Amino acid sequence: MDTPSNDKASPNAIRDVVIVGGGTAGWMTAAALIQHLRHTDVRITVIESSGIGAIGVGEATIPTIRRFYAQLGMSDAEVMSATQASCKLGIRFVGWGAPGSDFIHPFGLYGQDLRGVGFHHYWAKQRQTGDPTPLAAYSLGASLASAGRFIEPSPTPPSSLSVFDWALHLDASLFARHLRTYAEAGGVQRIDARITDVELRPEDGFIRALKLDDGREVTGDLFIDCSGFRGLLIGEALGSAYEDWGDWLACDAAFAVQSENAPGMEPAPYTKVTAHAAGWQWGIPLRHRAGNGLVFSSAHMTDQQALDALMPNLMGRPITEPRRIGFRPGRRDRAWIKNCVSIGLSAGFLEPLESTSIALIENGIERLKSLFPDKTFASSIIEEFNDQSAREMERTRDFIILHYWLNGRDEPFWQQRREAAIPDTLARKVDLWKARGQFVRYRWEMFHPASWLAIYDGFAVLPEQLDPAVEGLDPRQLAQSLGQMKTAVADTVARTPSHAAFLAGLDRSEAA
Ligand SMILES: Cc1cc2nc3c(=O)[nH]c(=O)nc-3n(C[C@H](O)[C@H](O)[C@H](O)COP(=O)(O)OP(=O)(O)OC[C@H]3O[C@@H](n4cnc5c(N)ncnc54)[C@H](O)[C@@H]3O)c2cc1C
Repeated sequence: MDTPSNDKASPNAIRDVVIVGGGTAGWMTAAALIQHLRHTDVRITVIESSGIGAIGVGEATIPTIRRFYAQLGMSDAEVMSATQASCKLGIRFVGWGAPGSDFIHPFGLYGQDLRGVGFHHYWAKQRQTGDPTPLAAYSLGASLASAGRFIEPSPTPPSSLSVFDWALHLDASLFARHLRTYAEAGGVQRIDARITDVELRPEDGFIRALKLDDGREVTGDLFIDCSGFRGLLIGEALGSAYEDWGDWLACDAAFAVQSENAPGMEPAPYTKVTAHAAGWQWGIPLRHRAGNGLVFSSAHMTDQQALDALMPNLMGRPITEPRRIGFRPGRRDRAWIKNCVSIGLSAGFLEPLESTSIALIENGIERLKSLFPDKTFASSIIEEFNDQSAREMERTRDFIILHYWLNGRDEPFWQQRREAAIPDTLARKVDLWKARGQFVRYRWEMFHPASWLAIYDGFAVLPEQLDPAVEGLDPRQLAQSLGQMKTAVADTVARTPSHAAFLAGLDRSEAA
């Protein structure tokens, strides 16, 4: 089964795939496609320009990344070693809500649902009796994260109380390098050159060839645009418009800077996102260094003010110069046009508050695999791809807007975010939550109800009405069963070693 068997392939089968760009998106796509199409004789070429380089940020992930590389046959230990990764149980939000607010959005569940009623209804009912136990005390993922501990979750959790997941903080350039090694070993060809021109077929406007600065010309059947914000093929050559979401998401710039890990400081098993006067700062602990940055609204903060907010608050001594990156939140009107599919920043961008960009790349790749075309490029395939991509971006956008809309800060930027209109799709969700403590789940959503619950709870937005099923509960029984859950979580946390100890174990096995 391991030899190419395309003798009987249709004459319309795609033979040459050309990926433009060798950033995270380009190499993830190349690695996934060469693995997926290994029994065909499809040739894959990646064109990247070392002169232009990749964006070099994108170091916080969500758990789906582990599914992505597992499909390539890579273990957690392999990827963690190759990318100097640390473990991530969620995101810690500091200063976003009321003064002093500090909460974790964990990759995991809260408590145990009973008789089809969400746990948060039981918890809210118990709160009415004066019990101040926070919701997070019933989440193993959140509790482990705030205690700085880490253990791999049980593959067969005895109850939903033990359900949590984890992701990685990884070095973006090392990750791209690791994927490149894998892809090249699988047969992907790499060309290091700058594309100077994109030639379209006069008869139908499909891409025929790419002209390189060394005089070469690269032809192909399917072109995948991973060229970053510029959208060299999908935008510049094929004219896919960019839908700008700046009215909903006001941040449009970032400074990124790498630092040492402060001596003696244990790496936290979460990404820290701290609100500032007109934006927020990220802190991503890796094993060999840390990633830091400030995302801000240039209409509310000058570059100097952004640097003044960022630089005194790094995770250690800076080891690079701060780099400014401007961006426009939004998406391509059509992610796929004719024989060109865009994946990564070329397809759109949402600020990294919930570490969604790499996950959007994974999903774009999955979508392409499941809708892989032939040379006829059926319009039904293209429309389906575009529809799914658009819906997924919109759902993710809504989740990010929610964080801004619920903020409890008083600076002008934050007041404006609170007062700004929100998309109808988001308003519908918030209204239902407030009215009845329920979740609307649309198709192609990245975030589960537990994530929405984490944000509502973090901003102290509770439902006005609880499920009638909890209203008549015996208060003693309720207190007892919640007490047992809380104790079970606390006991597990107490037995779990620190995240630093887990990483030291990895270091030892890598050295052995
Ligand atoms: C401030 C910031 C923070 C971020 N943080 C996160 C995060 O924590 N988590 C997350 O998931 N995502 C994050 N992202 C997003 C993440 O960085 C990207 O999704 C990811 O790196 C993929 O980028 P890319 O490969 O699409 O583009 P790039 O990395 O920009 O790669 C583009 C490639 O195209 C090539 N190229 C361009 N033009 C040409 C040409 N003319 N000829 C030849 N080659 C060309 C370049 O050389 C490069 O190889 C962040 C983004 C920003 C802006």
